[in-house]
Amino acid sequence: MENKHIQEIINKEFRCLDKGFIRLIEIMGDDSSIVQAARVSYGKGTKSIREDRSLIRYLMRNSHTSPFEMVELKFHIRLPIFVARQWIRHRTANVNEYSGRYSEMTSDFYLPEKNQLRTQSTINKQGRSNDLIDESLTDEVIKSMETSQKNSYNEYIKYINQGIAREIARINLPLSSYTEWYWKIDLHNLFRFLKLRLDVHAQYEIRVYAETIANILKQILPISFEAFEDYMLNSITFSSSELYLLKEVFNNVDLKSISDDENILSKTELNEFIQKVTFINENILNKNKGI
Ligand SMILES: Cc1cc2nc3c(=O)[nH]c(=O)nc-3n(C[C@H](O)[C@H](O)[C@H](O)COP(=O)(O)OP(=O)(O)OC[C@H]3O[C@@H](n4cnc5c(N)ncnc54)[C@H](O)[C@@H]3O)c2cc1C
Repeated sequence: MENKHIQEIINKEFRCLDKGFIRLIEIMGDDSSIVQAARVSYGKGTKSIREDRSLIRYLMRNSHTSPFEMVELKFHIRLPIFVARQWIRHRTANVNEYSGRYSEMTSDFYLPEKNQLRTQSTINKQGRSNDLIDESLTDEVIKSMETSQKNSYNEYIKYINQGIAREIARINLPLSSYTEWYWKIDLHNLFRFLKLRLDVHAQYEIRVYAETIANILKQILPISFEAFEDYMLNSITFSSSELYLLKEVFNNVDLKSISDDENILSKTELNEFIQKVTFINENILNKNKGI
């Protein structure tokens, strides 16, 4: 299962956002390392690529996760500090970051694309909606962000020139400043990171990085990534209350007709449940009807 794409991808810079990037520095292992580790528990026997694929899919399906930890990946990542704040919450990685105490901060700041200037979502309290802000404001907002970034960097350089220590001169720089780090993680935990950060609820800017990593994995760990997509990323789960309601759906009960007293789900949960059922209806049942 030696993967020819690994050497093509190592050290290649994949651009993210306006001034960021991801580079895969090193990888220990590949799809075959997972199989090799799993066979310690399951014994020898099946060896063809088809059987290897089945084994990897079996492991993923049954949450037998430790063989996936046999693959380790080290990335060099350049990202805005507000993205790094979200990223660092994933505690199972090893990180070494650029130090604003040792070195001067660069003058690179993230400026969103105009099409990312959206209004506050009314459904998701954390996120932006699909609606662009008033067009007349777009240029003004971008200009104002750029000016305030430049001003705070000029102030920073002024403090440095006044002899103020770098560690204190930097404290007023904005969250849009770019930082860099080396980030090492095993494949099991990387999949957990991707499950959360590829999701539509994750902020667009971190999603861009997650999508870049996903594209890298697709090429260098194709069998594991396919299993991840099938059993983790694109799977849909139902709670026991949702399964109860699902029975009602199969009995052709209109969910909207269920009164608040009868309803076992909160309003938000019911909406999420309807979204899942609608997805299945549109993507699976209706498609099959068309065959
Ligand atoms: C859309 C979204 C919105 C978010 N909003 C907020 C927010 O508003 N405020 C906020 O503070 N955070 C927020 N977060 C961060 C979130 O709460 C988690 O901290 C983050 O996603 C990391 O998840 P994790 O702990 O599963 O990951 P990791 O730290 O990578 O851990 C992976 C898994 O390892 C295990 N683990 C790791 N460390 C420990 C430990 N010390 N003890 C026990 N088990 C451990 C757990 O099973 C964990 O799930 C948000 C995340 C997302 C994706």
